[in-house]
Amino acid sequence: MVVPRRRKSVGLYIALGVVLIIVSLLLYAAWVANLRQISLLLFGGLLLVALIAGMVLNTVFLVREIRRNEQQDAFINAVTHELKTPVASIRLYLETLQTRDVNDAKRKEFYGTMLDDSDRLLSTIEQVLRTGRVGNTRNKPQLSEFDLDVLVDECVHRARTVNQLDEGLITFKAGLGATVIADHEEIRAAVSNLIDNAIKYSGKSIKVVVETSGSGEGNAIVRVRDQGSGIPKTELKDIFKRFHRVPGPTARIPGTGLGLFIVRSVAKRHGGRAWAESEGIGEGSTFVLQLPLAK
Ligand code: ADP
Repeated sequence: MVVPRRRKSVGLYIALGVVLIIVSLLLYAAWVANLRQISLLLFGGLLLVALIAGMVLNTVFLVREIRRNEQQDAFINAVTHELKTPVASIRLYLETLQTRDVNDAKRKEFYGTMLDDSDRLLSTIEQVLRTGRVGNTRNKPQLSEFDLDVLVDECVHRARTVNQLDEGLITFKAGLGATVIADHEEIRAAVSNLIDNAIKYSGKSIKVVVETSGSGEGNAIVRVRDQGSGIPKTELKDIFKRFHRVPGPTARIPGTGLGLFIVRSVAKRHGGRAWAESEGIGEGSTFVLQLPLAK
């Protein structure tokens, strides 16, 4: 669906380029033919302004096209890898099960790994679909009133179960005691993304604290704190951009660079904000999601 729209806008700007060439030829001819006539000079001046405006538009368009191309490349690089790896792994286990005699214990282990791989696959597909949904302003959130503490508690429970973590490794301090009017599913996805990241980027020393509170200005705050890899200060803004991943050791951890884009888009769609705090590499990170409270 994106391609025809791109072709249409390319055609429009090619037409604009042709018109600009004709305009510049006219301008050239007018100036050469009779430079002393005021009316022609004025006309030439107007054409010159049109020419400059057109060139500016053309440049803006070109820059946007180049950015879109870069994003498409980033999408293909990030997502293809995340789709291909689990499929290749599942295929390898299935081939082994088909061609070799495998004892019961190994068979169980293989099934477990294949289930993990299919979960990873599903979560990547879900991230891609959600990126499309929350990035589209015509797609409005489905609002309902709910208790944010309850939702965050559910997300913490899910993260504990999925990652098989003891209660002490990820704790929740509910301090809001109020409701929000929001899209339950979108907020659940945003909070889960923050908790999943806190676990994912903590390596082996997982110590995640999730807190809710009121800001005193009619806002609800969800804070997810970890003592993991930390984030360089120069990256704190960029990590919310689509496909952006911090270069260096953390880039080796599987991911698409879509999670935080979803978090910020969901926050914005609800009139809220999302931001990250970190003192740098090795210093852990805190992610904050701010949403307006129900009036
Ligand atoms: P992904 O995790 O799939 O790469 P995200 O959009 O969720 O995508 O995160 C973007 C980048 O921000 C990550 O690649 C990582 O470098 C950094 N990041 C996110 N959360 C954390 C965290 N809790 N600790 C350290 N770095 C993080």
